[in-house]
Amino acid sequence: MHQRRLPWRDDPSPYRVWVSEIMLQQTQVATVIPYFERFVAAFPTVDALAAADLSDVLTLWSGLGYYRRARLLHAAAREVVDAHGGRLPSTVEGLLGLPGVGRYTAGAIASIAFSVRAPVLDGNVMRVLSRLDAVDAPVDAAATQRALWARAEALVPADDPSAHNQAMMELGALVCTPRAPDCPACPWVDACAAHARGAAHLFPKKSPKAPARAVSVVAGLLGRSLADDAVLLARRPEDGLFGGLWELPATDLEARRAPASPRAALARAFRDRLGLDVDVGPHLAGLTHQLTHRTLSIDVFRVTAARGADPRPSWYTEARWVPRSAPDAVPLSTLTRKVLAAVGAA
Ligand code: SF4
Repeated sequence: MHQRRLPWRDDPSPYRVWVSEIMLQQTQVATVIPYFERFVAAFPTVDALAAADLSDVLTLWSGLGYYRRARLLHAAAREVVDAHGGRLPSTVEGLLGLPGVGRYTAGAIASIAFSVRAPVLDGNVMRVLSRLDAVDAPVDAAATQRALWARAEALVPADDPSAHNQAMMELGALVCTPRAPDCPACPWVDACAAHARGAAHLFPKKSPKAPARAVSVVAGLLGRSLADDAVLLARRPEDGLFGGLWELPATDLEARRAPASPRAALARAFRDRLGLDVDVGPHLAGLTHQLTHRTLSIDVFRVTAARGADPRPSWYTEARWVPRSAPDAVPLSTLTRKVLAAVGAA
């Protein structure tokens, strides 16, 4: 089977494998490649990453989503430098001690970068194994996970675990695909229970999903003056959704206690979170944004404040006037980019 050419495979140093595996958690390979290349060009070593400002790390991560990964990667780099002399631990146990490194990532780094006989179980490998054994139990159940990890471990050879693990992941990505597995091209076609049943597409089985929760958000566009295009952006707290990223001041309506209206909720958010009294004017845009477990509906209003009013952030950790023509001066989420694009002409 052919392997795809991926930049982290050309030079599988522990640091590059680690960065790539953190980026690949929850993000597709094709999306990750340009982010990976920019990231390792800016921070070529663990020491460079540890010495960087978190905001520079977040800026390079901007658009990749799941920003907690970037914060944990940065914290882990500092830990590697402070506690491990700048070298990544080479065992699964040692790697598991680092922020943001779970069992899958530890197995991938240990096997690919250090040739340790450790299993990996990502979504691709899970799909292959669940089909190979026609696993009828939901794969997201804890007992099934344990069984799949044990199965994955039993398959790893002592000789070249890196090649084996990467081949398993490639098999899932390129051959044993979710909808149309190419069974005739699969080395396990004669051993595969799901294929024998003619039912490969029915695996893996999953527990029924909870529907995404609908959340209403109101956001305010506050310009500094008529003379320039700067708007007020505020930095969210480190913990929680979009932690540490900048946005137009906003609140979700659930966070407000029984607001009289979206406009009243927005005015209260400016007062409580930024110490600003504002008037909420016309509705500028409405858009939706899908997250894994939430569907956000965002309504953006123009707001005005008394001339020269200065924000005093409390819930927000910082506030800054940022040119609307160059908002990337601060790390933004994809959602904030969408919101700024939606009000671009406002
Ligand atoms: Fe997947 Fe088909 Fe191979 Fe079974 S035979 S592991 S279903 S590609």
